[in-house]
Amino acid sequence: MSTVILGGGLSGLSAAYYLLKTHPKHSVQLLEASTRLGGWIKSNTLNNNIIFEEGPRTIRPHGLAAYNTLSLIQEIGLESSVIPIHSTAPAAKNRMIYADGQLHLLPSSISSIFKVMSPFSKPLVWYLMHDFIAQKQTVKDESIYDFCNRRFGTEVADYLISPMICGICAGNSKEISVKFLMKTLFEYEQKYGNIYKGLIRNLFNNSPKTELSKLAKRAKVERWSVYSFKDGLESLPRAIEQYIKKKDISIELNAKCKSIELYPRNITVHLDNGKSIDASQMISSISSEELSQLLKNQHPDLSTLLEKIKSVTVAVVNLQYNKKLLPKEGFGFLVPPKERLPILGVIFDSSCFPNGENTVLTVMMGGAWFQELFGKQCDKEYILNLAQEHLKLMLGINEQPENVKVNILEKCIPQYTVGHNENVEKIQKYIKENKLPLALCGSSYYGVGVNDVILSSKNAVEQLC
Ligand SMILES: Cc1cc2nc3c(=O)[nH]c(=O)nc-3n(C[C@H](O)[C@H](O)[C@H](O)COP(=O)(O)OP(=O)(O)OC[C@H]3O[C@@H](n4cnc5c(N)ncnc54)[C@H](O)[C@@H]3O)c2cc1C
Repeated sequence: MSTVILGGGLSGLSAAYYLLKTHPKHSVQLLEASTRLGGWIKSNTLNNNIIFEEGPRTIRPHGLAAYNTLSLIQEIGLESSVIPIHSTAPAAKNRMIYADGQLHLLPSSISSIFKVMSPFSKPLVWYLMHDFIAQKQTVKDESIYDFCNRRFGTEVADYLISPMICGICAGNSKEISVKFLMKTLFEYEQKYGNIYKGLIRNLFNNSPKTELSKLAKRAKVERWSVYSFKDGLESLPRAIEQYIKKKDISIELNAKCKSIELYPRNITVHLDNGKSIDASQMISSISSEELSQLLKNQHPDLSTLLEKIKSVTVAVVNLQYNKKLLPKEGFGFLVPPKERLPILGVIFDSSCFPNGENTVLTVMMGGAWFQELFGKQCDKEYILNLAQEHLKLMLGINEQPENVKVNILEKCIPQYTVGHNENVEKIQKYIKENKLPLALCGSSYYGVGVNDVILSSKNAVEQLC
C-alpha cells in the first residue's frame, strides 16, 4: 500500500506520524510545496533569544483533542521542553477586551460573575440566567452571534463572544456558525428548549473514559491553562519531523502539487516541477480552497463543496522593547468588532513567557475585515505604523521597538460559517459514494486549533486504513 500525504504543515506531519506508527510497512511519501515543513507554525529566535511567533503560540491542555496532543508530545520525547502557564498566573487570569477607549478585565472566577464589571452593565450571572426565559427558536444552524444574542443578550454577544471569535479564528461572529464553538449548547436548546434543561438532563451522562498520558495527568494536576515549548511552538513540528525521518518515509520539499487524478483504486499527483507520483491512497492536509483547485477538472462537484470553505488573511506584527512597558500583566486583549478599530487583538508574549526586562507583543490585524481595511495591495510599513499608533492609544506605548517583524499570512485561517458542518458532511458523502481513496485532515474541516488538526490527522489515518 502506498500513501501520498499532501502538505507538510502540522497536520501533514501528524498524519505521517500516525500512519508510520500504525502501518509501519506502508510506503509513505509527503509532498510539501514550500522549502520548509511546519506550515503556519514558525518561531523566529532573535539574536537576544527573544522568540517572535509568527503563527500559533499556545496550546490548550484540556479536552479529548488536547489529551491526544499531549500523548503525541510524550511519544516523540518533547515532554521536557514543555513550558506551561499555570491557571493562577496573571497570563491565565487576566484576559481583557478594549472597549470604549479603555481596557476591561473579563470575569475569570466564580466570584467575578456576580460583580458588575465594565463594559457590561449587569453581572455576568444575570445574562446567564436570561437563558431560562429566552424563547426557543427552531433553526438548523445560525451565527454564533445570533445564538448568544438570543440566549444571553447583546452585551454577551458583543463583548464576550465576538472578541473571542476574533481571537480564535480572526472571524466575524455574525457569520461564524454556532456549531463552531457551541454545538452542544445549541443542540440542548433545539432538543430541550433551553441550555440549562439540556445541561441538567446530561449531567449524569458519563462521557467515555479516556486513558490519560503521564503528561496529560500532569497538566490536570498542575492546572495548566495553556502551554508552549522552550524554543517556541515550532519545536512541535520540528520534533515530529525528526521522529518520522527515522522511519521509512520520503519527504519532498519544493513539491507543489498542481493537479490530482483521483480514481477508486489509484491516484496520480502531478507536481509543478513536471514530476508525477502514483499512489494507492492519499491524505490531503492542505486547505480545502487549495484542494478544490486541484480537483476542479475531474471532480467539479467535490471542488465546488471544498471551495465554499474560505480562509481569511491576518497581518501579524511582532514587537520587542528593551524595558517593561505594560500597564497590566495578562494574556493580552481582544477588540470587539463593534469598536470598529483595525486591531483584532494584542498578545502580551512577555507576560505569558517572561524574558527579563523585555516587553514582547504581537498585534493581530485584518482577518474577516482584511480586504475592507487594507485592500488587495497592502503595505507592511503602513500596517506597522497602524499597529504602533494603536499600541500608543490602547497601552500608552510611545517607545520605538528594538526589533519588529511584520508578516501577512495569506488565507491562513478557515472560516466555519453558517452551514459549515453540513457542507463537510456533503464532502465526506461525495468521497464515500465515489469510493475515492482520499482522507482529509487539517484546519479546514473539524476545528482550526493545533489540537484539532492533530486529531483530524489521527482520524484521517484511521478512516483510510
Ligand atoms: C496567526 C495564527 C495564529 C494561530 N494561533 C493559534 C494558537 O495560538 N493556538 C492554536 O491551537 N492554533 C492556532 N492557530 C491555528 C494553527 O496554526 C493551525 O491549526 C495549524 O498550524 C494548521 O496546520 P495545517 O498543517 O493544517 O495547515 P498549514 O500550516 O497551512 O500547512 C499546510 C501545508 O501544505 C502546504 N501546501 C499547500 N498547498 C500545497 C500543494 N498544492 N502541494 C503541496 N503542499 C502544499 C503548505 O505549504 C503548508 O506547509 C493559529 C493560526 C494562525 C494563522
